[in-house]
Amino acid sequence: MMTEGTCRASIFQTNISYLRKKKGSAGLAYLDNYLKARGLKLTIAKIEEMKPSEHIPLSTRIVFLEGCLALFENDIEKLKAMGREAPTASLILKLFIKYFVGPNSAINQGPPLWREHYSIGTLEVIKNEKGIGVIGLKDFKVSKIMCHYLCGYFEGVGVLCRAKNTVCKETKCVHDGADHCEFVITWEA
Ligand SMILES: [Zn+2]
Repeated sequence: MMTEGTCRASIFQTNISYLRKKKGSAGLAYLDNYLKARGLKLTIAKIEEMKPSEHIPLSTRIVFLEGCLALFENDIEKLKAMGREAPTASLILKLFIKYFVGPNSAINQGPPLWREHYSIGTLEVIKNEKGIGVIGLKDFKVSKIMCHYLCGYFEGVGVLCRAKNTVCKETKCVHDGADHCEFVITWEA
């Protein structure tokens, strides 16, 4: 199945920096081979040469994340950890976060940030209270691997906001029959 839609190169570039730090050039070579074996023309070097705002198909994003998961010996927690580190590594997010007072205002920035980075799907704030936020992701049935990654990413936003013990759990998922994905984010308020 071809997945329509695109996302920004910056998302990949942040992950590549993380992988270089954690897995070195051997890890990146492994990922390059994985992308090639899956029939992709895009290489790590090419992604790094792109402008951060350039668009890459979501179908490529999925193969990339699957390659990362293989590199992490299929340990989904390690994939989530990569997502968790991404907000801290992103310059754009760091700039945004300067104006955030705390996790609740960060959650409110979720929908515009999603639109900025992904061409399909809508992020909606369902609940945003002291110590808890609920985010819905609609019209985005792409791959379960994205849900795992995003869960880690949302926890990372909590870290960036210096919220204590931020935990994200996906409580509804389109891949388990729900009509949208729902992420419940809690922290010590
Ligand atoms: Zn999901």
